[in-house]
Amino acid sequence: MNQELYLFNTLTHQKELFYPLKPPFVGLYVCGPTVYGEPHLGHARSAITFDIVFRYLKHLGYKVRYVRNITDVGHLESDADEGEDKIAKKARIEQLEPMEVAQFYTDAYHFAMDKLRVLRPSIEPRATGHIPEQIEMIEKILQNGFAYVVNGSVYFDIQAYKKKYSYGKLSGRTNIEENLAVSRELEGFQEKRHPEDFALWKKANPEHIMRWKSPWGEGFPGWHIECSAMSTKYLGSPFDIHGGGLDLIFPHHEAEIAQTNACECYDNPLNQAKYWLHCNMITVNGKKMGKSLGNFITLNEFFSGNHPMLSQAYSPTTIRFFILQAHYRSTLDFSNEALQASEKALIRLLQGIQKLDTIKYAGTSSFTASEIQQKLYQAMNDDLNTAKVIAELFHVIDKIHAVDLKQETLSQQEANSIKKLLTTWLEDILGIVPETRTNEQLEEVMQILIELRNEARAQKNYALSDTIRDKLQAVQITLRDTPEGTIWVNGKI
Ligand SMILES: [Zn+2]
Repeated sequence: MNQELYLFNTLTHQKELFYPLKPPFVGLYVCGPTVYGEPHLGHARSAITFDIVFRYLKHLGYKVRYVRNITDVGHLESDADEGEDKIAKKARIEQLEPMEVAQFYTDAYHFAMDKLRVLRPSIEPRATGHIPEQIEMIEKILQNGFAYVVNGSVYFDIQAYKKKYSYGKLSGRTNIEENLAVSRELEGFQEKRHPEDFALWKKANPEHIMRWKSPWGEGFPGWHIECSAMSTKYLGSPFDIHGGGLDLIFPHHEAEIAQTNACECYDNPLNQAKYWLHCNMITVNGKKMGKSLGNFITLNEFFSGNHPMLSQAYSPTTIRFFILQAHYRSTLDFSNEALQASEKALIRLLQGIQKLDTIKYAGTSSFTASEIQQKLYQAMNDDLNTAKVIAELFHVIDKIHAVDLKQETLSQQEANSIKKLLTTWLEDILGIVPETRTNEQLEEVMQILIELRNEARAQKNYALSDTIRDKLQAVQITLRDTPEGTIWVNGKI
């Protein structure tokens, strides 16, 4: 932990030296997916960004508790508390139980993230599993005078809050009314005392399928309250790092800060977390990605190449590398050309590292592992600049090639140290692990097993088909039956 890591804190708009509240422990909370659709490149960027935070802090020796939630209720179609619940709507359209929708897309999310080598968080709480905690928090906010009840719904009272605390510090928004103008005409709006107020609890209409009993009648929680309740439960208040995508700063994170302050009733507002980190968005050919814009590509479509906008399939490692080639706060534009360039660059990088085994060694070395290490730390400590880390790695590859041309020299011992160092940075810290021949063979073997299981099921030999599934489960391989056929996942679900 003798590294000085600087992180850009959205709250203070500057890079700050990272120092946890209770070293060596670090509490990290990241807003996870709303599970109502297939995971896409935007999910990958957020998950990979905070996977790097998680991996690097652990590398530095911190004991990190990483909490990333699953939003399976409360996220309405419009972020301004109006419209239908995203998961309930999907369930209604597909005639499923809401939990069936949530489970299906949670599995899909895990499947894609495992492929991208995103480490699972320490705790992955679900909003629906924490309804009592959310109700308890809303009750405290009401008791403290920062909320009001209207017709079975509870709203956060921004005007009351502003009398004691400042609101809008994280987003720097002052003219909030302007941002809410779009929601004025929507149903339920007339219940709010002020357009800035947001829902803590919404009364469920008779046709609403996701509902829970509460002191205010049957209803469901607002979207923002889950993250305040779950972060407080597992990390306390305040905790070290809160992360998410840039689009969550307002209203979601601003609301989280307000709720936590209003619940705890601090004399000095503690802003819920010490450091607020936000990753930028991904655009597709220069445009925002969106289902309505027709440029929406799921991660599985990237992996299979099965989308009209894709000229080929891209491996999960290529996608991960492409994302890490940009700094997390920069915008990142997807195009086939950009991904193909990443694919080529990655191959060059991996081949360069392998070359260390075959170069002609000398008695002395003109460059050393410790020099390289210092530069890699320097880049990473500068607000997790993975783009610079990768540039430094390429710089080393150039030097390895220069050894071949006798412009540089390397002893065998130094070459071994450099190889070890590069592998640590590439595999452990950046999570880039080459897809090898072994994986292809495993894929072929798994396809044979899946076919045998299908045959057994076709012959109604369920004892055999279950044995195949159970024995695979015992070696951490899960079979998942999807409308497109059976797929396998490395790990237990
Ligand atoms: Zn959240």
